[in-house]
Amino acid sequence: MTAPFIEVRDLHKRFAPSLSLGDKIAARLGARVETRAVHAVDGVDLRVERGETLGLVGESGCGKSTVGRMISGIMTPTSGTVRLEDKPVRVAGAKADTRVQMIFQDPFASLDPRMRVGDIVAEGPLAHGLVDKAGLDDYVAGHLRRAGFDPALADRFPHQFSGGQRQRIAIARALAMQPDVLVCDEPVASLDVSIQAQIINLFMQLRRDLSITLIFISHDLTLVRYIADRVAIMYLGRIVETGPADAVFETPKHPYTQGLLDSVPKLVLDDDEIVTLRPIVGEIPSPLAPPAGCRFNPRCPLAIDRCREETPPLRPFGGGHDVACHLAE
Ligand code: SF4
Repeated sequence: MTAPFIEVRDLHKRFAPSLSLGDKIAARLGARVETRAVHAVDGVDLRVERGETLGLVGESGCGKSTVGRMISGIMTPTSGTVRLEDKPVRVAGAKADTRVQMIFQDPFASLDPRMRVGDIVAEGPLAHGLVDKAGLDDYVAGHLRRAGFDPALADRFPHQFSGGQRQRIAIARALAMQPDVLVCDEPVASLDVSIQAQIINLFMQLRRDLSITLIFISHDLTLVRYIADRVAIMYLGRIVETGPADAVFETPKHPYTQGLLDSVPKLVLDDDEIVTLRPIVGEIPSPLAPPAGCRFNPRCPLAIDRCREETPPLRPFGGGHDVACHLAE
């Protein structure tokens, strides 16, 4: 089998909890201090083909942003690999791989307020030798234009713009690095609905024009359904269902995916249809103490004894649709 464009294998990320002052003093004095690591990502496998859009979906705290950061090389995995065209995305001691760029949720925080827009977009490509000083102004203007931002405003500062315009600056900055892959972490979650649509259309146009591969991280199923070719649903650090977007949304097999879809309000109702939303009961458990067996079992209406003892592996159900549930049949 040929290697996929992006291949994520058995990815894990653990975060050691920070010690309280009392615990630090106790540890210094030689006392044994109990600490439990947060296992934020626990054995994630993903394959993404060139030009594809993968939607990575789940509730807050499920580990999807951590997976995105590891794919883009800005966070080191505890174990596991991320390969792009069969080469590691992150090599210890080497310069960051510019082919994968990340776009963050908050365009206020992700842009340096002391830098002018043009300098923000120019900084990366200059540092990596993607452009020389002679061609820099045209290069920056071209990428701002592609992101739908007027290059005539490039000498202003980020705070002089709206959230949508700031997100366009962040997109221009990413595009200026000539990426093959954009990892977009909730890129429209902080924007007004009308602006969200503009930015989503921009991503779709970039994908069409530049054949960019997108990893679109979101809790918003409606958005993901609109933009993604394939979907991976995450729960408490693991993928519980993945497959072509149509298959996952039309015939979801995992109770968690079914619960997420039942929680989404419908905009168009049949004349006499009464829709009752059926939110998933309970809260996502702490990753400090995840439940044994299937991690969804405390919230799952179908759970049986086996679910509390045995972790369900991802199993294939045809057409690339994989599900981690003992009762998926
Ligand atoms: Fe529910 Fe059991 Fe399936 Fe987990 S394995 S989703 S608890 S039925």
